[in-house]
Amino acid sequence: MTSNTPYIVEGRLFVPYFNYYGALASEFYRQLRDHKKIMGIKCPTCSKVYIPPRSTCAKCFGNLNEWVDVSSKGTVTTYTIIHYTYSPSNQPMDVPYACGIIQLDRADTGLCHLLGEMSPDKISVGMRVEAVFKDQRQGNILDIKYFRPV
Ligand SMILES: [Zn+2]
Repeated sequence: MTSNTPYIVEGRLFVPYFNYYGALASEFYRQLRDHKKIMGIKCPTCSKVYIPPRSTCAKCFGNLNEWVDVSSKGTVTTYTIIHYTYSPSNQPMDVPYACGIIQLDRADTGLCHLLGEMSPDKISVGMRVEAVFKDQRQGNILDIKYFRPV
């Protein structure tokens, strides 16, 4: 005898893994973790500065290998407010919180990150912000806790 009722088993899987960032991202996260420096990579041909770093210029296809120390301060170019809790253990902040694209000074591309120490209804495009680094850094993008108003 069969049933069309689905048989559902709830559980958790433990999945150990490691992720190799690659040469460029490894250096980016190492600088972030060890020196609280946000590093970009500059195109020797057109001078465009990318953050996070990449190996090829999207504008002129040049090979990128010149590291530059970009500022930890920048400008919010766009943002969104998160109101929905979809996975409390995986969300970095309690709702509502904001996430934005920050154009760091001396960089030509934006960095997507959290916006903190501000009420979501006070955020605006063009707002000046600065990185707040965690005391205990682990070599990932959340070594920057969030960006706060300058
Ligand atoms: Zn270029």
